[in-house]
Amino acid sequence: MDVNKPRLKKDLPQVELPSSVTVKQLANALKVEPVKVIKQLMRKGIMANINQTMDFDTASAIAADFGYNVKTAAEHRVLPTRKEREKKRLSVRSPVVTVMGHVDHGKTSLLDVIRKTNVTAREVGAITQHIGAYQAFVDGRKITFLDTPGHEAFTAMRSRGAQVTDIVILVVAADDGVMPQTVEAINHAKAAKVPIVVAINKIDKPDANPERVKQQLADLGLVVEEWGGDTVCVPISAKREQGISDLLENLFLVADILELKADADRAAEGVVIEAKLDKTKGPLATLLVQRGTLRQGNIVVAGDTWGKIKVMFDDKGNRIHKAEPSTPVEVLGLNEVAKSGDLFMVVLNEHEARSIVEEHKYSRPRPTLSLSTLSSQISDGQIKELPIVLKTDVDGSIEPIKTSLERLGTDRAKARVMHAASGIITESDVLLASASKGIIIGFNTTTSPGAIQLANSEAVSIRQYDVIYKLIEDVDRTLKGMLEPTYTEVLSGRAEVRAVFPSSKLGKIAGVYVTEGKVWRDAQVKILRQNKIVGESRVSSLRRYKEDVAEVSAGLECGLAIEGNVDFQTGDIIESYRKERVE
Ligand code: GDP
Repeated sequence: MDVNKPRLKKDLPQVELPSSVTVKQLANALKVEPVKVIKQLMRKGIMANINQTMDFDTASAIAADFGYNVKTAAEHRVLPTRKEREKKRLSVRSPVVTVMGHVDHGKTSLLDVIRKTNVTAREVGAITQHIGAYQAFVDGRKITFLDTPGHEAFTAMRSRGAQVTDIVILVVAADDGVMPQTVEAINHAKAAKVPIVVAINKIDKPDANPERVKQQLADLGLVVEEWGGDTVCVPISAKREQGISDLLENLFLVADILELKADADRAAEGVVIEAKLDKTKGPLATLLVQRGTLRQGNIVVAGDTWGKIKVMFDDKGNRIHKAEPSTPVEVLGLNEVAKSGDLFMVVLNEHEARSIVEEHKYSRPRPTLSLSTLSSQISDGQIKELPIVLKTDVDGSIEPIKTSLERLGTDRAKARVMHAASGIITESDVLLASASKGIIIGFNTTTSPGAIQLANSEAVSIRQYDVIYKLIEDVDRTLKGMLEPTYTEVLSGRAEVRAVFPSSKLGKIAGVYVTEGKVWRDAQVKILRQNKIVGESRVSSLRRYKEDVAEVSAGLECGLAIEGNVDFQTGDIIESYRKERVE
């Protein structure tokens, strides 16, 4: 069944679900292979194996994806949900933090200084390895830092469905102030709904002006606490190692509010942070465990690859045998190099691993989220918001276009400009649009070659305009669910009329021989006589040996009736056409 195809609710088959089901039970109920359910869960960012249980909400969302109408089993109302039962088992996990900000504002310096100053006594002098993430110890508590700074890594992961970061540290240099990549970082973090802690860096510099930075941030909607807002902001100097412990304390405060928890008592799952091929050791991958406990010997599926964990190292290069939630580990044992941002999970056995990987490898690419697709999703009520990344030629064009766009829409759907800037459309824009299931609109600008490539692989639609009213009109029609897709006709078959005979019900029947491709019931047809079109209509009936058939392929004869009063005679050629959507 095409899981992406919306259907009318009243036509849907019913399925009754209890408060919690395993993947296997759900697959049985939906009459699909368990891997199909696992794959659909993956699309939602949930890694599960065949025996894993899921709660009612998750199961019914999956059932809906497979075209079912969900009925609550009576038991659902009395038993606690899996979420409620699980809550009791959850234990606190440490926060995972990403550092973002404009180039040269001090992201790397900050990560290095935290890493250097916050290791346990035992580890001082240990050789630090860069595995893409590390844990710092502060007053007996741990924080996990992803040490690939920048929003590209952050959003690349999110576009693959991985939500990795709990908190973003936004580094802004006090002498330079808010710059384009600062704005981009804020919008990336906002789109991911990740709280931001601001670190105003380089306060040691004579021309440092932290107050100006605060004002610039306020203009972007990030009002610092001392001005009555709720953005935590800490002045630091990465160079002089000032303000670092204050920053870390504040990270813990934010983490405490987030109440970060995970169940350590289950099969592990998480995200691939980095992966590479080591000439002597083979494929290496840094995994961030997000739920459960990863153990040496576990069989793991990570994107298109799998393997048995042979050896695990922590971020200091020590051998370890298990890793709990929020722990980054370097592992050996995957059969191939994984991709960063891929989700990983522990499975039962090799057989399960292989079948999931096969499914994953050959799964259809995502269809591009074009305006017309979004338009029909809006008219079906599937989406309520159209996220837009807007790029323009000059700064002056941003505000008027943004204001007009945000004024559009109906009660059903609104446009939301999640990021707007001047300049060409870059890979970062594509990733942001992809992660937010939005589109990119360019006004009088161009797209970098890398962005075009990425847009194709991430299935993101880029629309370029040079006339404002046309841009506004397209988005308006999209929001009203009115944007009709355009179709093109594709020649799909040819047949020769070899005889014409009367029929009491259908008027006239053509006895034809299909020479190329196919003809089918309801196909659009053109009738050609000496290479000139003499009529156009639709196949209304198709028969072979007195049996109604759906289609007839080349090399076969059939009787064919055409809708309406269309003229045809022996010797005519009938061409069948398929409509194909043009994006
Ligand atoms: P990134 O591009 O954001 O990772 O920035 P870097 O960490 O590479 O820093 C860029 C430059 O700023 C380097 O030359 C650093 O030495 C310098 N820098 C970083 N932090 C500070 C600071 O707190 N004070 C001063 N004066 N310079 C800093």
